[in-house]
Amino acid sequence: NGKLARAEEILVELQRTCASPLERLRQLADAMVVEMHAGLALEGGSRLKMLLSYVDSLPTGDEEGLFYGLDLGGTNFRVLRVQLGGKEKRIVDREAKEISIPPHIMVGSSGELFGFIASELAKFVATEGDKFQVFDGRQRELGFTFSFPVRQSSIASGTLIKWTKGFSIEDAVGADVVAELTAAMDKQGLDMRVAALINDTVGTLAGGRYYDEDVTVAVILGTGTNAAYVERASNIPKWHGLLPKSGEMVINMEWGNFKSSHLPITEFDRALDEDSLNPGEQIYEKLISGMYLGDIVRRVLLKMAEEAELFGDTVPSKLRAPFILRSHDISSMHHDISPDLEVVAAKLKENIGVIDSSFETRKMVVQVCDIITRRAAQLAAAGIAGVLKKLGKDPSSKSNHKRVVAIDGALFEHNTVFRNCLERSLTQVLGEEVCPFTLKRANDGSGIGAALIAASHSQYN
Ligand code: ADP
Ligand code: MG
Repeated sequence: NGKLARAEEILVELQRTCASPLERLRQLADAMVVEMHAGLALEGGSRLKMLLSYVDSLPTGDEEGLFYGLDLGGTNFRVLRVQLGGKEKRIVDREAKEISIPPHIMVGSSGELFGFIASELAKFVATEGDKFQVFDGRQRELGFTFSFPVRQSSIASGTLIKWTKGFSIEDAVGADVVAELTAAMDKQGLDMRVAALINDTVGTLAGGRYYDEDVTVAVILGTGTNAAYVERASNIPKWHGLLPKSGEMVINMEWGNFKSSHLPITEFDRALDEDSLNPGEQIYEKLISGMYLGDIVRRVLLKMAEEAELFGDTVPSKLRAPFILRSHDISSMHHDISPDLEVVAAKLKENIGVIDSSFETRKMVVQVCDIITRRAAQLAAAGIAGVLKKLGKDPSSKSNHKRVVAIDGALFEHNTVFRNCLERSLTQVLGEEVCPFTLKRANDGSGIGAALIAASHSQYN
């Protein structure tokens, strides 16, 4: 029938515009390398900010004592504490708590945001049991993971450049987030020092390195996407400060803002971007990360509903609601192995009020999820390939040394198709060209990483 044919047509067109053949992925990897060099050469030299993290030494495993971590950067924020026992005992104890951020706080004022965080942190500190011991006479120390682009001026200070991922708090832009947090903690009467301000990628790198000294790159594939890696200080022309003893500096790429003419961008991506809080920005992130995948799929399904009556002769009104489909819904539908695609049917009912869907319709929905998910995984692979290529070309790096990429984020952790596709694409894109690599899941690297960096940058060291 004609309607089915039209739906097929839309699908074929989607497949065509999303296609990311190997050649294209290699061009993207090379473009990433070019942008990395440009961003390191000059402040503002690239859409990639290539931010200095002021982390010049990563954890070794010798760290000791009680440290707190705070992880803000998505829908939830996490507080945690760890008791570090040095080389032998490692992580003696850890406790964490996840707290969801009320939506009005995400778009309110800076005072409200930091006030909320500090009060939750104070409540958490109040539950500290005997298993945790701060050294006599010392102040508690905190590593603050703040996963938005920040221009740092030292390990424990930095100003917010812009919000991403659905946050929009105007009076916080340009403010020193450590000063804001410290002031809010003081108001709560909480005696704690912020020892380090980092980003989730940097935290993941630190957390990964604590367990495996071959970890040199970290990637986030969660609500947003970003990467950090260890760069030789001498490869950073824009840095005019004192070179660190280690000769190294962790760079927070802010790769979510990457853009290239080689990116396979569709009408759906363009519309999503226009409707977003930050049009024109974070283009790479909008093709890849968990915050957006569901909404790209929704937009495709809406077109199929309008032009091909995918869900019957009326368009389900909920399908017009932005972000009604979330990336974990996409993931569940995509992984549906029941013969009748029952999970797809249930998700369609639950999320967009489609009471009765045909098998043909369900199959098409799965195909849309598949196309959008694979594209995301392939594009992420191209980015990682770029970073590995950049590191591989460095004449000062040990050639053929194994590199481990620590990856954190629910998208990578829970979406098996995404993860397998990323791994396979990365192997293909790199071919024989670069050193051996391993991808390693680093669950909650960012939280633990913050505490570890606080330890390695403690005022008592
Ligand atoms: P954050 O990036 O905010 O620190 P996470 O790493 O926990 O947080 O990632 C959360 C994001 O991952 C959610 O916004 C959602 O988009 C996505 N996500 C959560 N669960 C799944 C899942 N099962 N499959 C795919 N994506 C998921
Ligand atoms: Mg995270």
